[in-house]
Amino acid sequence: MNRILIIGAGGVGRVVTHKCAQHPEIFQEITLASRTVAKCDAIVGDIKNFPGKIQTAAVDADNVEELVSLIEKVRPQLLINVALPYQDLTIMAACLKTGVHYLDTANYEHPDEAHFCYAPQWAMQKDFEEAGLTAVLGCGFDPGMTNIYTAYVRKHYFDRMDYVDIVDCNAGDHGYPFATNFNPEINIREVSAKGRYYDQGIWQETEPLSVKREFRFPDGIGSKDIYLLYHEEMESLTKHYPEVKRMRFWMTFGQSYLMHLKALENVGMTRIDPVVYEGHEIIPLQFLKKLLPDPASLGPRTVGKTCIGIWVSGEKEGQAKSCYLYNTSDHQACFREVGAQAVSYTTGVPAALGARLVLTGEWSGKGVFNVEQFDPDPFMSEIGDWGLPWQVTFPSAASFEDFLISRDPCASGDN
Ligand code: NDP
Repeated sequence: MNRILIIGAGGVGRVVTHKCAQHPEIFQEITLASRTVAKCDAIVGDIKNFPGKIQTAAVDADNVEELVSLIEKVRPQLLINVALPYQDLTIMAACLKTGVHYLDTANYEHPDEAHFCYAPQWAMQKDFEEAGLTAVLGCGFDPGMTNIYTAYVRKHYFDRMDYVDIVDCNAGDHGYPFATNFNPEINIREVSAKGRYYDQGIWQETEPLSVKREFRFPDGIGSKDIYLLYHEEMESLTKHYPEVKRMRFWMTFGQSYLMHLKALENVGMTRIDPVVYEGHEIIPLQFLKKLLPDPASLGPRTVGKTCIGIWVSGEKEGQAKSCYLYNTSDHQACFREVGAQAVSYTTGVPAALGARLVLTGEWSGKGVFNVEQFDPDPFMSEIGDWGLPWQVTFPSAASFEDFLISRDPCASGDN
């Protein structure tokens, strides 16, 4: 009898709950908890025909004692954390106190500092090891699938990886001049930070969104501008694959998004330090979040596709080799299935499958793990059936740069 506790009833929490409920052979009892229980009730109310037990609860995940008493009541084997990155450490602490496995999709970030890193979570390695528990970090899409893709191509297609480029495209249109597809506060903090990429063992820094290229995406998406960003999976991937000479992360942004972001930055609306307004302290970015559309509400109006993948160049049996592995998802298809757009869907589905692999012991180990440390094969063989099929192509040129602007990376490979 597998019992799970999901924390966070946002867009991603909706997808994880639906996906787990689609697999009653694995998940027999599901509890969805969040700060606002009405959001949990709305999600659970949409789930029909789940033969097991499904319930909701209210919890403040910043409070370890509250978490502990909820966990003791629910008695799950595994907790899936899809609240905000601010809660990672308190939720991990509560798992340690109660003897429960842990899985999340975003690395820890302090609310007062726009900086994310794995260090505080990796520092809990010994505690999880001694408790005989597994903590799985970053099991969404990026981080998550992109890490598993990297592990998979290294295992099956390369003897050595030299260059890794992770490319994240959201070609969806929600019809608003400015909205974010996941939590606005987290999204804007990530995008307005300096860019960083890894080059020959050194992290090179770039001004925010100052490095732009154009990439032609497959499956009818076509050419899009991509911008160099720092992204969290690079921290663990460069640690676990020290052979990689250069690693970069790229993301697409539309002109309207960039124009609004610049204006909001220029007037101070993206600041995360307190400002006194009419006698009250407010954080401008948190106030902005209140004004922006809730990402969970974008589902019905978002059309178009996402395409996230990795481009790797390296060597196999003495020959130069390149490979592009990716998933394309359709916003409306995701919405029809679980009531959420593709950005939430592509995050929640890997979390649900990761949870299944921990519960069945196919992913096991005592301590704190990034997903590339597990065997990618059981994940890659099932993820298509769970809703995120992948494609791989082996373009003949050896460089990612060769495929920018002018060439279609899927046109010349042996699929
Ligand atoms: P949302 O903002 O839509 O949802 C977050 C949920 O967490 C809300 O329901 C909120 O509850 C709840 N929450 C926040 N603070 C607390 C708290 N103190 N106690 C209990 N619940 C709390 O975010 P998303 O669903 O879009 O994202 C969820 C997570 O997924 C984030 O960590 C995000 O960074 C991550 N993510 C990862 C991606 C990946 O590919 N790896 C991609 C996209 C997102 P309430 O509404 O009641 O305040």
